[in-house]
Amino acid sequence: VLQVQGASASFGARKALDGVSLSIGRGEMVALIGPSGSGKSTLLRALTGLTRIDAGEGRITAFGQTVQAGGKVSDQIRGVRARIGMVFQQFNLVGRLSLFSNVALGMLGRIAPLRGLLGLWPAAEKVAVMQALARVGVADQAGQRAQTLSGGQQQRGAIARALVQGAEVILADEPVASLDPVAGRRVMELLCDLNRDEGLSVVVSLHQVDYALRYCRRVIALKAGKVAYDGPSEGLDHAALIDIYGPEIEEVF
Ligand code: ATP
Ligand code: MG
Repeated sequence: VLQVQGASASFGARKALDGVSLSIGRGEMVALIGPSGSGKSTLLRALTGLTRIDAGEGRITAFGQTVQAGGKVSDQIRGVRARIGMVFQQFNLVGRLSLFSNVALGMLGRIAPLRGLLGLWPAAEKVAVMQALARVGVADQAGQRAQTLSGGQQQRGAIARALVQGAEVILADEPVASLDPVAGRRVMELLCDLNRDEGLSVVVSLHQVDYALRYCRRVIALKAGKVAYDGPSEGLDHAALIDIYGPEIEEVF
């Protein structure tokens, strides 16, 4: 469903992505790992056109449609974005709004914006929001302001928003980095459930290599903007990890 061909992305003289090519199939659950600054966030942002890749041969497509190519973001980007849910480390909910409203914002593209902003959600949409909240396990918190929720609950809200948006792909940039280990594991398990039961494709960037190995069948590792490993998680042995992170990774294991 996602395809990256020879994409580079530069900030000044620094290449955050350097000739990246990869392909994500429908229903895959992929971990994106690599040291700080290796380009994980840049890649996830480039996949929805939020970060522009360099002019040249590089091309990114989603669902067979161009996201960006030759340094230009495609005119079709709005349609593509609606099918991709983004989840970030810092939850990205509006703190003063209720959890319900935050999730309902995922449907803004489908109903008249003014009605949405006034909170006049049609009944069918209300049901859809409550179903999504129940699916991720935070229906009881629907009326609570987002800022009063725990990190894990907020992250579930962000995932519910992607669900009501009708996303077919979830791109999650370090969704568990701000969570305690238990809440983090639960969020990973939720992503796995959605991948398995709803057929959602998931690409999740992680600093925790052990999470990548445990929850994802496929791992893509970036190192200095290049793909250093792309294959089954079982194939990611010590030698590969040392190549990606350097010898200090030994101390972690
Ligand atoms: P982390 O694990 O710390 O989140 P990352 O793998 O997500 O790191 P990126 O955030 O993609 O790495 O950054 C890749 C490189 O691009 C880094 O050298 C970073 O400094 C640079 N970079 C990213 N965004 C910008 C920006 N907006 N302006 C300038 N440089 C940037
Ligand atoms: Mg990052």
